[in-house]
Amino acid sequence: METSQGQGPGSQTITLMKIGHYQIGNTLGAGTFGKVKYGVHILTGTKVAIKILNRRTIKNLDMVSKIKREITNLKLFRHPHIIKLYQVISTPTDIFMVMEYASGGELFDYIKEKGKLKESEARRFFQQIISGVDYCHRHMVVHRDLKPENLLLDHNLHVKIADFGLSNIMVDGEFLRTSCGSPNYAAPEVISGKLYAGPEVDVWSCGIILYALLCGSLPFDDENVPSLFKKIKNGVFQIPDYLNQSVVRLLLHMLMVDPMKRATVDDIKKHEWFQKDLPAYLFPPPYDMDSSVIDQDAISEVCEKFQVETVEVQNALLSEDPHNQLKIAYNLIVDNKRFADANALYSISAFYSAGSPPPAPQTPAFSPSDSSPSPFRPHPERIAPLRERALSGDRGVPKGTPVKRAKWHLGIRSQSKPLDIMSEVYKAMKVLGFEWKVLNPFLIRVRRRNAMTGSYVQMALQLYQVDYKSYLLDFKIISNNTNEIVLQEKKAITSEDDSQMSCHHVMEFFEMCAALITELAR
Ligand code: ATP
Ligand code: MG
Repeated sequence: METSQGQGPGSQTITLMKIGHYQIGNTLGAGTFGKVKYGVHILTGTKVAIKILNRRTIKNLDMVSKIKREITNLKLFRHPHIIKLYQVISTPTDIFMVMEYASGGELFDYIKEKGKLKESEARRFFQQIISGVDYCHRHMVVHRDLKPENLLLDHNLHVKIADFGLSNIMVDGEFLRTSCGSPNYAAPEVISGKLYAGPEVDVWSCGIILYALLCGSLPFDDENVPSLFKKIKNGVFQIPDYLNQSVVRLLLHMLMVDPMKRATVDDIKKHEWFQKDLPAYLFPPPYDMDSSVIDQDAISEVCEKFQVETVEVQNALLSEDPHNQLKIAYNLIVDNKRFADANALYSISAFYSAGSPPPAPQTPAFSPSDSSPSPFRPHPERIAPLRERALSGDRGVPKGTPVKRAKWHLGIRSQSKPLDIMSEVYKAMKVLGFEWKVLNPFLIRVRRRNAMTGSYVQMALQLYQVDYKSYLLDFKIISNNTNEIVLQEKKAITSEDDSQMSCHHVMEFFEMCAALITELAR
């Protein structure tokens, strides 16, 4: 970590801390394993949350390769309602987990402020939570610690579940638990000390959360911990009169003391109360109807991410072990495509891997068992410009912005992550001595001074999303003010001079493009 001195307001000296490409700011909160700090990606201004785990609290200093693989997989988790893990930076003293930032605070502070929620609002939050939980369970990750502190909101009041996958790493990595979280959300078998904690413990916690959303209080509560445990194990709780009978049935099923009799996530998904106004994007239909067809792109991506040979991934796919990390990675990549597809319809707001989910679509919800093929397939011509909102989660983009088809684009295509592409562009521009102004993280105005004439040539660089994983860096010519003035003055002379001037301007623009492409291709 680097530190440097800076001048704060009122010429107070403040210490600036940096880790990787991030400037570290205020503390957002503290948990069992360390602090969570606010951070900013220096090049692009993207806001992030950085969880700092001190290595002193970790028994085993060397992360075994199994855990490394789990972390590699966590970075592949891409869901509109799960906090995304962007990067893990290791130093001799700490581990920094750079995550998506949720600016709306904790869901339960929201309930504390508003009291019990309207049934429709409670259902909307609950549907988002179950969609995220279902996604993780399908990829072999159980949360085990669903509680208020891990349910965050973005500034559009969409739920973002934090810390998915951490409990696995904590157990395997032998992180020391120095304190225990609130037991109000823990399933009876967990407080009884049973070792196995599968998906059913998350269903129990979701039942408690649903109750809290609808009633503004907890089903099992007591200041005295042994009495609280007794209440949880008995599983008897009050049902207020105002609750709809349909949701009461769902609650009773989710809060069954016997884990074998408890509702499964599939039961919840099929429940009539859950199905009401269910947005289609939360449960997109399977991506490929024929699961026997191997997705070669996904195989290549796994090889690249895990630095393994194709044959190793192929063998993993044949393996019977559901916890095989290469197999999980492959399934995640394939699954992410269907989420990306379902959202592509909503243009930029669909680019949720780093931001918010799309607005709740007004299309009729389909049942999770519906096997009709997805109407939203990636299409190479369907491109959407990336905007700041894709990063900040601000959905100020008009709802349902139609996806435009463009005829021609001058630019270069890449399959790197958008922020990585932009970072390369900044480096190249620096080398070439270009000057630039950031209009948003994916749109920049660039200029280069012609040493002979002293005038500037300007162009705009815009990153577009072509399909679920490719991006196009588009070059656009801008007739800058200086040149416009020159052209106007010239007009008074001859039209030949005029066209020569604009021709010259275009040539300079192409030279700039060529220099940039050459530098990027290095
Ligand atoms: P545990 O250590 O058991 O996970 P915890 O969830 O309370 O407990 P942390 O995960 O360290 O602890 O988080 C501490 C606090 O930091 C949270 O309660 C939340 O308010 C804030 N926080 C965590 N992650 C983010 C995030 N991605 N964006 C914004 N705030 C966050
Ligand atoms: Mg947490």
